[in-house]
Amino acid sequence: MTNQTHPFQLGAFKLIAISDGAFPVTRDFFFSETPDELIQHIPPQYNAPLNFLLIDTGDKKILVDTGLGYAHSPTAGKLLSNLKAEGIDRKDIQTVIITHAHLDHTGGILTNGKPTFPYAQYMMHKEEWDVWTSQPDSNEYKQLHPLKTHIKLLSENKEILPGIRLIHTPGHTAGHLSLSIFSKGEHLMLASDILNHPVTLEHLPSHIRVEQAPTQALETRKMFLEEASSKSALLFVCHYPFPGLGRIKRTKKGWKWIPVLVQ
Ligand SMILES: [Zn+2]
Repeated sequence: MTNQTHPFQLGAFKLIAISDGAFPVTRDFFFSETPDELIQHIPPQYNAPLNFLLIDTGDKKILVDTGLGYAHSPTAGKLLSNLKAEGIDRKDIQTVIITHAHLDHTGGILTNGKPTFPYAQYMMHKEEWDVWTSQPDSNEYKQLHPLKTHIKLLSENKEILPGIRLIHTPGHTAGHLSLSIFSKGEHLMLASDILNHPVTLEHLPSHIRVEQAPTQALETRKMFLEEASSKSALLFVCHYPFPGLGRIKRTKKGWKWIPVLVQ
């Protein structure tokens, strides 16, 4: 996997889609409750893309999730070098938003046991923190615990800066967060793991097997897609093909992904 970044403008904000590489999973793991005909073209060992978002407001640099990290997979851990290629050092990041604690989103959060982004304030939903910090044997706990004094926990939806709103979208995990980013009439919604793959937009119960509350997650997924459609928002999805950017269109079967193509 080559280094990949995709900078683009959303109103006054400069955004960069950054690849951390790939997350090797089995097809069965990544596509629970999914009809075979939708996924038979996907190999049994599947490399799920890992796309993360950097938001540069001009005053602040905000990173959404930290990637799987090289320590957890040799096919991942490219986020820092890709940031560097865009002229951004890890010391430049002022805020890190953690959409949820699964390792493919928090694996890069520590370097030698210390916060990778040393001057950042970390933010996550309180329910997410509570779930994982009550499971001291989990990998998620091991990633989060050293951040105890660096983290701000949210218990309600919050506009952290004008135009950047964190929204509690539970189901995949209890404290899963999505983002709504709005600037000068342009709107982007960041899905994180509400969505798993473009083909499953035709079958919304499909989900990654570790989903904590699939029934709730299905409701969240439906609401998220309806809102994105009604607002004609650009979507950014972590595990969709790079750069994970596109729009959705309603079809007879559900929804269809219209990707933003990059060269
Ligand atoms: Zn994920």
